[in-house]
Amino acid sequence: MYTMRPAEFEYHRPSTLDEAIGLLGAEGARPLAGGHSLLPAMKLRLATPASLVDIGRVPGLDGIERENGTLRIGALATHASVAASELVRSSCPGLADTAARIGDPQVRNRGTIGGSLANADPGADYPTTVQALAATIVVHGPDGERELSADDFLVDVFETALRPGELVTSVRIPAAAGSAYEKHRHPASGYAVVGVAAVVAVENGRCSRARVTVGGATASPVNAEAAAEALTGVEPTEDAIAAAAARVAEAVTSPLGDVYASGEYRSHLAGVLARRALTTAFRRAVG
Ligand code: FAD
Repeated sequence: MYTMRPAEFEYHRPSTLDEAIGLLGAEGARPLAGGHSLLPAMKLRLATPASLVDIGRVPGLDGIERENGTLRIGALATHASVAASELVRSSCPGLADTAARIGDPQVRNRGTIGGSLANADPGADYPTTVQALAATIVVHGPDGERELSADDFLVDVFETALRPGELVTSVRIPAAAGSAYEKHRHPASGYAVVGVAAVVAVENGRCSRARVTVGGATASPVNAEAAAEALTGVEPTEDAIAAAAARVAEAVTSPLGDVYASGEYRSHLAGVLARRALTTAFRRAVG
């Protein structure tokens, strides 16, 4: 029956990481971060956890720091804090773009980067950018710490490589001045119908590195390898960017389709958004 009331559950609020990991070992336990995906799912009874382990007060899971050339973003960093961070805006503007375009102010003030990645919604924004930036997801579980590349972490629709009882604790992102994110928002939810992240570097006037990742169009984000290859070693002129963007749709095999946007339309959008994201990323890369 449609009640908008969750099934009964136990609630725990651990104050250390070890305590949280211990509680997550129980049958049916789920971590709770910002609650902006999990609580609606519980109200609709799409999720019926036996217990919630609220990680909101576990020390060491928040914060945004720069360690040499890498940003370390704690799993509990909210979308609003990432969008507002001067450190993120200056060293990785594509990530700030992404956070700023998630949902609405309420969602951005509560939702967290760790929760978004662990949820792996195909319409979510962070997975696309984090994959384009070749980020490392740091996770903790009963067997200690593991590090996974974003490509390995994001497996399928609502599926990650997290093992039972594991928590995302932080995300490590190589700084990338030449980064940008563009999305076509779903008019009702704000989620990405399609989102494209571009990460580029320029040396001596030529593109020395490019990565273009498309989200929202397939079960999990895909890297548009042909587009990246078309740019590497060439001068990033408008024509070169347009030619590369025209090859982005090649990566979108078996696109998702629904009543709002067909698979064909999503493939088309991927090319349009890639052109915009690449143009901004190259402009930022050359300062
Ligand atoms: P929660 O809801 O607390 O948890 C989500 C899932 O992740 C649960 O399964 C939980 O157990 C697990 N989890 C949480 N934290 C961790 C962790 N550290 N380690 C392991 N597992 C963990 N998202 C977008 O990307 N773009 C949008 O435009 C967008 N629009 C939205 C609009 C609305 C109206 C709403 C309600 C949500 C929207 N969202 C959007 C989703 C939002 O960004 C969520 O906040 C986010 O997806 C989940 O983060 P959370 O911290 O709220 O996680």
